[in-house]
Amino acid sequence: MTIREQPILIAGGGIGGLAAALGLAQKGFRSILLEKAAALGEIGAGIQLGPNAFHAFDYLGVGEAARNMAVYIDQLRLMDALTAEEITHVDLGEVFRTRFGNPYAVVHRGDLHGVFLKACRESDRINLRVSSEVIGYDQDGASVTARLAGGERVTGSLLIGADGLWSNVRRQVTADGPPRVSGHTTYRSVIPTEQMPEDLRWNAATLWAGPKCHIVHYPLSGWKVFNLVVTYHNDAPEPVAGKPVSEAEVMQGFGHVHERAQNIIRHGTNWRLWVLCDRDPTERWVDGRVALLGDAAHPMLQYFAQGACQAMEDAVCLSHMLGAHDDQTAALEGYRAQRFPRTARVQLMSRAIGEHIYHPAGEHARLRNAIMGAKSSEEWYRDLAWLYGGTGLS
Ligand SMILES: Cc1cc2nc3c(=O)[nH]c(=O)nc-3n(C[C@H](O)[C@H](O)[C@H](O)COP(=O)(O)OP(=O)(O)OC[C@H]3O[C@@H](n4cnc5c(N)ncnc54)[C@H](O)[C@@H]3O)c2cc1C
Repeated sequence: MTIREQPILIAGGGIGGLAAALGLAQKGFRSILLEKAAALGEIGAGIQLGPNAFHAFDYLGVGEAARNMAVYIDQLRLMDALTAEEITHVDLGEVFRTRFGNPYAVVHRGDLHGVFLKACRESDRINLRVSSEVIGYDQDGASVTARLAGGERVTGSLLIGADGLWSNVRRQVTADGPPRVSGHTTYRSVIPTEQMPEDLRWNAATLWAGPKCHIVHYPLSGWKVFNLVVTYHNDAPEPVAGKPVSEAEVMQGFGHVHERAQNIIRHGTNWRLWVLCDRDPTERWVDGRVALLGDAAHPMLQYFAQGACQAMEDAVCLSHMLGAHDDQTAALEGYRAQRFPRTARVQLMSRAIGEHIYHPAGEHARLRNAIMGAKSSEEWYRDLAWLYGGTGLS
């Protein structure tokens, strides 16, 4: 078997892993995707998609299906959570879409994952395996073997570690310890649209920014539901994922914000808690025949709403590089060199906007309001062009 005919192994069947499998299939590569969970799926609720995500959908061959799932919002709206007044908004209408060649949208995670999963299942180049946790790998100059938790060994030409924030593959490639706990606690809820306060049923991704806290909401799934994401910077010390919590616990961080903002939280149900983590950027994504992708490579806080978008861009770049170069290890290096500066910028700026836009207090918040409130649409588009104008190929 030639090296091009050997399957490529992918650890992780989240949005990043599935997108990588699809991109590789487009270039003629077979892959074996190894997912730890017993079933492929996504928990959680909404996800925002910048225009760069739509470039990736088209490249990966799922443009139409993904577009059919999305709600196309009119604005990114920033509210002051203390006064309940609008600070600014970014218009996402025709001028925005023409400028970036694509829209901005919101979509249910499960729906988006389902689009990728269906396309993967329809491809005879992709072998999806569940209950297959990758715990490590061995490699020589010609192949790499993934070691699975059950003792099985699976060999391929390359291994792509798309196994998320707590990546086992990263532990071996980068060896930089556990992720950084941000101390920011996020609570998520999805409510039927009729439960959302009527005067706030905006066709916008709305951010209410307050001292050490914020609230985000937007419509999802053909306006059937609203996604609520509420975050409190309470210096939580330990990582937590998806723990059910009471409304009273969610409200603890919001006693100081405007009644109108508090009221949004009162409409939430079935709240779940996450303590957010990220990492400092590092260039160590590649070890010979092994490369990282998505959150395994560059986990970031969600404040730019770009983690999944960047994972999809990674998939585009990786498949482009492997399609264009016969030397696969050189292709992995090329992928890393192209993706590192951009994803590192998003990681660092996500932290910065958390501090300077989402959570400031007092003078710092007044300064934010003055600077952001004075910006024209054209200035917003210019500032966001580096991000939304990206395709994963440039
Ligand atoms: C509150 C919140 C809001 C967000 N909002 C947005 C947004 O609006 N827009 C956006 O673009 N991004 C957003 N993100 C980020 C986005 O969710 C992630 O960046 C994205 O899901 C990462 O995808 P991934 O495939 O790299 O990793 P994951 O989604 O974590 O997938 C990893 C997969 O690997 C599997 N796995 C784990 N370990 C192993 C192993 N050892 N072997 C095999 N399989 C394994 C897991 O079961 C999982 O299926 C948000 C994140 C949070 C926390």
